[in-house]
Amino acid sequence: MDLKFIDDPSIELKGKRVLARFDFNVPQNSQGEITDTKRIDSALKTISFLLNKGIDKLVLMSHLGRPDGKVNPKYSLEPVAKYLAEKLNIDVILTESALAGGIKQLLNLSTTKIVLLENLRFHPEEEENDQDFAKRLSAYGEIFVQDAFGTLHRKHASTYGVVEFFKNRAFGGLLLKEELQALEKITNRPIKPFVAILGGSKISDKIKVISRLLPNVDSMLIGGAMAYPFLKAKGEEIGKSKCKDEDVELARSILNTNTGKIKIHLPIDHVVSDSLEGSPSTVDRIPPNKMGLDIGPNTVKNYGNILKDSKTVIWNGPMGVFENKNFSQGTNKIAQILTTLDAFTLVGGGDSVSAINSLGIADKIGYVSTGGGASLEFIEEGSLPGVNVLKYGVSS
Ligand code: AMP
Repeated sequence: MDLKFIDDPSIELKGKRVLARFDFNVPQNSQGEITDTKRIDSALKTISFLLNKGIDKLVLMSHLGRPDGKVNPKYSLEPVAKYLAEKLNIDVILTESALAGGIKQLLNLSTTKIVLLENLRFHPEEEENDQDFAKRLSAYGEIFVQDAFGTLHRKHASTYGVVEFFKNRAFGGLLLKEELQALEKITNRPIKPFVAILGGSKISDKIKVISRLLPNVDSMLIGGAMAYPFLKAKGEEIGKSKCKDEDVELARSILNTNTGKIKIHLPIDHVVSDSLEGSPSTVDRIPPNKMGLDIGPNTVKNYGNILKDSKTVIWNGPMGVFENKNFSQGTNKIAQILTTLDAFTLVGGGDSVSAINSLGIADKIGYVSTGGGASLEFIEEGSLPGVNVLKYGVSS
């Protein structure tokens, strides 16, 4: 069976009560203000589409943060409800809880249009994929729309179990459609040369994605703390740089599989310091008392030369400790290089996406994914549990 999206003309939406799962898991500051609205903004397309199709009611659901199955006002969806109401210029009623007693009556009122269920993760049953909880959620809609791409690598009640109660009435939303189309350009015969740029902190987190991509890419450019286990495995001095012994073993095994044409490229110079707070200096070889905190300018040049002719690029993970201005140049320059390429570029992963957004260049990138973990798992596995369930139903 194939996954149907809500813009499929065969789907009758008019007059229907729609239950829709989004990923409104947005970052907030200590005053509870949303600091990045991208995930909510990305949901607006589907919401507006449904409203324009003349649906009767829309019941929205999402999680926010990690309240671990307990009610915690810090993780209330109230700021999300407010933001949505402003953007859509329509009342958005936030329920007291996802299972609050009055929701059915509320949905019977002719004045009700959009209801947002309070944080699903206030209930432990959400993450347990509890069948009864999923069933109770399913009672809010005649049609189910899944648009929470960023959480579809999780098998939770609202991303997985709920689908069972919507046989032939569960569809993908427009964000999910866009995300999958972008990822398929990477996983399904990417236009060559295909280059992967991988950074961030740990090899062990990205080992599967490295193994999956390595046979398909023409080049893999490594940066961030991920580079040091590779350098150490090759016998280079890495000083006090972040590096675990087990990651050196993983790096060694990856390097051993890369026989033939060298695909894995490593930094040839580094921005180092005594500590995360220290002042930066650039070196070709890391002295024993320093730690590597960013890729150096010659590495940027080298990576730029490899990227110049690429036709498909995926980037996940910063090239250094980009949160600190002294060590952000490598990440920022790689981001800038991506905007100059005649290639399809896909950026995933919270930190690389933040770098793109803070530079204000998101519109020059082919696709900026809303889900770092989900996009990596899609590349590793070729699909996601929350997508498979829409295609094939619940598996035992
Ligand atoms: P990840 O979540 O795996 O993408 O890792 C992102 C984190 O890696 C960021 O918080 C960076 O500060 C950190 N990072 C990147 N490069 C380095 C480095 N050279 N040393 C220590 N941490 C790093």
